[in-house]
Amino acid sequence: MIENIIVGAGLSGATLARKLADKGDKVLVIEKREHIGGNTYDYIDTKTGIRLSKYGAHIFHTNSEVVWSFVNQFSEWNMYKHKVLSYVNGKHVPVPVNITTVNELFDLKISNISEMQSWLKENQVKGEINNSKDSALAKVGQELYELMFENYTIKQWDLNPSELEASVLERIPVRDTFNDRYFSDKYEALPSNGYTEFVKNILDHKNITVELNTEYNNSIHKSNKLFFTGKIDSYFADKFGKLEYRSLNFNYKTYDIEDYQPAAVVNYPSLEYPFTRKIDYKKFYNTKSKYSIIAEEFSSSIGEEYYPVPTKKNRDIYSKYQAEAKKLEKNNIYFVGRLAEYKYFNMDQAILSALELFDKIYKK
Ligand code: UDP
Repeated sequence: MIENIIVGAGLSGATLARKLADKGDKVLVIEKREHIGGNTYDYIDTKTGIRLSKYGAHIFHTNSEVVWSFVNQFSEWNMYKHKVLSYVNGKHVPVPVNITTVNELFDLKISNISEMQSWLKENQVKGEINNSKDSALAKVGQELYELMFENYTIKQWDLNPSELEASVLERIPVRDTFNDRYFSDKYEALPSNGYTEFVKNILDHKNITVELNTEYNNSIHKSNKLFFTGKIDSYFADKFGKLEYRSLNFNYKTYDIEDYQPAAVVNYPSLEYPFTRKIDYKKFYNTKSKYSIIAEEFSSSIGEEYYPVPTKKNRDIYSKYQAEAKKLEKNNIYFVGRLAEYKYFNMDQAILSALELFDKIYKK
């Protein structure tokens, strides 16, 4: 019997596979899709030379030295500074909210930190923070909340921010400066040859075998240890009920335009637009082409799973699965990753979670 089976060849699965393989274990990775990389899967469009991500834009960012040093073993990285603009009242304004956002939308002339802090203080809504609405109001106040966050969130989650755990809108900070970078982590980068190549390099080891187009089946797939990175509710045949996931759909359009929009990502928070954002793919790798490929991003409850939905209801269901999963550890069955841990992980968190699980098992 093979020592390890890993279900799923996304970031968590690939990271664990590599750690186990480096330790000398044989690993079989089974993946139901026809490709590795999970939702980071990318490829180059042959007509334009533009790199596209099948499942939406992925920008790697981390503060973790451990993760950064791990990922650097498998790819060169292009330093990248992600910027997002939001299309509000006919203007492109920075997200996260900064001094420029407030000046543009309210026709003000705030010029320094202390003026911005006063503006925020006057507008921020104080009170207990129980959900994403509270957290956004506490950061940016009622007007910006309505203009930039409320309807975007309704489109993305099909829920009012008041129904979502605070953590969702806490992802977006507010800045009292002119800083217009989306992320504030120490490292922010894109793999020089793309994510697919990066994950391929992680899995490129004599002890690792990858089988694509293969559904996990517990009567066929026997191993001493099992690492499951798929949906935790599916593993348990939905016995405590189905967990909700949000999916995304993309409408790709190729334009004969060199510079389509003023940032790689432009958000559309208004309900006038059915999509949440437009991604201008050539901007990530600065690809020279006379064309632009734009993906309009639509959120949906149907389709492949992208996001766990952080509500109290799902949290409660998940804790039942989690307790069940914990019991299986004595049989060497482990659950790891965004779908198996039902957490809105960024890529670095998915990798870190896999590294930590490995350490928990082998470095006791
Ligand atoms: N969000 C919003 N307006 C924005 C950007 C984000 O309301 O202009 C909210 C929305 O609910 C979104 C969440 O903040 O789902 C997290 O945004 P992030 O950009 O981190 O989402 P991701 O890139 O992971 O889809």
